[in-house]
Formats: sequence, C-alpha cells, structure tokens
Amino acid sequence: MNRAHNFNAGPAALPLEVLQTAQAELTDFMGSGMSVIEMSHRGKEFDQVNNEANAAVRRLMGVSDDYEVLFLQGGASLQFCMVPMNLCREGKKADYINTGAWASKALKEAQILGKANVIWDGKPEGFLRCPDAGEITVSPDAEYVHICSNETIGGIRYTEFPETGSVPLIADMSSDIMSRVIDVNKFGMIYAGAQKNIGPSGLALVIIRKDLIERAPENLSTMLKYSTHAKNASMFNTPNTWGIYILKLVCEHVEKLGGVAAMQKINEEKAAILYNVLDGSDFWKTVMDKKSRSIMNVVWRLETEELEKKFIAEAKERNMIGLKGHRSVGGIRASIYNAVPKASVQALADFMNEFEKQNG
Ligand code: PMP
Repeated sequence: MNRAHNFNAGPAALPLEVLQTAQAELTDFMGSGMSVIEMSHRGKEFDQVNNEANAAVRRLMGVSDDYEVLFLQGGASLQFCMVPMNLCREGKKADYINTGAWASKALKEAQILGKANVIWDGKPEGFLRCPDAGEITVSPDAEYVHICSNETIGGIRYTEFPETGSVPLIADMSSDIMSRVIDVNKFGMIYAGAQKNIGPSGLALVIIRKDLIERAPENLSTMLKYSTHAKNASMFNTPNTWGIYILKLVCEHVEKLGGVAAMQKINEEKAAILYNVLDGSDFWKTVMDKKSRSIMNVVWRLETEELEKKFIAEAKERNMIGLKGHRSVGGIRASIYNAVPKASVQALADFMNEFEKQNG
C-alpha cells in the first residue's frame, strides 16, 4: 500500500484503520445486505449509527446534558450565518474577535445581518497572533462573543480562551476540534466542519447549549433553526449519512487511542518536531507570535517563491502531499491533524534538514 504523507489542510488525512473498517463494511453493513449509504436514515441500522456518533462525541469531549450535539450540512460556512440568525436577537449585537481569514468570514456574515461588533482585530498587525485573555473586553450587552480557535490559513491558535463571563463564547473549531482538551462548559456553542480532524467534508458538528437554541426568531426558515435539528436528532431532513458514519468511526478510533488528551500529547510532540526545525535556522521564516503558533497548521516561508516551489516539488517526489500554502497567502503549510502519523511529520522534518543542507 502506498499511503501518502498527507499534509492536506482539509479534506485531510483520516486514520487508516477507519478507512479499512469502512471498506470492510461497505457492501454489507451490519448484515443488512446494503452499504450504510444505501439504506434509509430512518431505519434501525442508521439510527444506531446516529446515536453512537452522538454518544461518542459526548464522551470524547465531555459534553453534558445541558448541550445538544447536532450533525448539520452546509459545512462550517453555513454556521457563519446560522449563528447570528439564531443567537443574536432583534436590535442586538454580538462581539467578534478577528484573528484571520476564517474569523473574518464569520464576521462578514454577521456584518451582512448588521449584527457584528468587532472587539479585537489582528488585521493591522498582520494576523500574527491571537489575543491574550486579558486583552479582551466584552460588551456587557453582547449576545455572544465569536472566535475562531485555530486559524487554518494563518497558522495561529488561542492558547487561552477569552473570559466572557455570562456572555456565551462561540467558537469555530473546524481545524482543531478534538485535537486538544477543552472545557465545553466554557462555551455557549462550538462548531466545526468535519473534514480536518473528525471526518469527511459536508458535515458540520455543532455543540450548542440548550437554552441558546430558544433564542431564534419565529420567522427564521425551518432549516436554518437549530431547534429544528435538535428536535429531530439531526434528522429533520436526510442527513449526510456517510459523514455521520465516518465521524462515528473516527471518534471510536480516537477513544481507543486514549481520547482527546492522548491526541493532544501526540499533537504537541508532532508540532514540536517541525517548530524545532523552523526555529533552528534563519533559512526558515516564521513570523507568527510563538505563543500563538498552531499545533495543527504549521505555516512558514522560504527566502524566495522559487525556493518554496522547489521545496514543495521535491517534497512531492518523496510522497509528501499538500504542503503548498493557501492560495491567499502562499508559502508552505503542513497540516498535521490528529490522523497524520508522527512518522510522516518526522519524515518531513528529515527532508527539511536535507533541503536546508542543499539549498541553505
Ligand atoms: N472555519 C475554518 C477554521 C476552516 O478552516 C474552514 C475550512 N477550511 C471553514 C471554517 C469552512 O468550512 P467548510 O468548508 O466546511 O464550510
């Protein structure tokens, strides 16, 4: 088998064991004579998958009964507008912290609705860091505070989350969900596109405090209301059955490995392997504030774009895929999500050392 060293930003690497289980079960799921994507979402087999996926998320992240766990469609991007539509009531505003490309996209949707109030903006500094908790002053009448916990493109993350008191904190955790231990109780809502750490694209995981679900205005469309999906166990309409199935397998796999705490330990080790190389010489250019550096998306540059192209091309010859930085910023990015093996990260570090020797 020729598995790539997969550094894609998303869709991204999934655990080989999960893919093999899905493969083994593909043509005959639970003795039904059908695959999981050929059967009714209302049947007993899929009902079990949906329940087990929900339960696995709850166990792994320590989600209490005060929260709903929902599996929605439209990716994380639909959440950018569903959040203000549901949670920011008539005549009120929500606080937004702008840390980069993804926080900006969420902010834009709230601005379209006339609901946004920016309380911290990293843009003038070039989005090099996330703010410290002490830098944030929450508006007393804010409906919520929105953050992006890990900026997939910029390669920065919060090491400590803002203290928002009684104002609900809402986080887009698309690129670091289940990569590190967090206290769900500190959040009013967490959402994530599945395609980085927990499954395939087209599925969004939403964890929302039950009292917040009731805020939505009556005249909001049925599909856009969290209450619709909460009342119907994420099956108001036909859900992304494949996505929920894979998410369940990924969660059960992570549990077998020791849960989110075990993932965090490995993820910190993996990130340290790359940052040690990057910090080891001026050949590699990293501009982000060290405290804010992401352990999921490691971003750097080389002296010239030609050298970056050469690096990416030579990496590809070594079966290392997905290292090109996002088209909006260029440079190099290694996304090292939960399912990227430490051996792949070590192989990349070894290649970096070799590349520096030859080109430095
Ligand atoms: N938020 C973050 C932090 C992301 O990285 C992404 C996707 N790269 C999104 C939101 C958008 O997710 P989707 O494509 O599932 O809408």
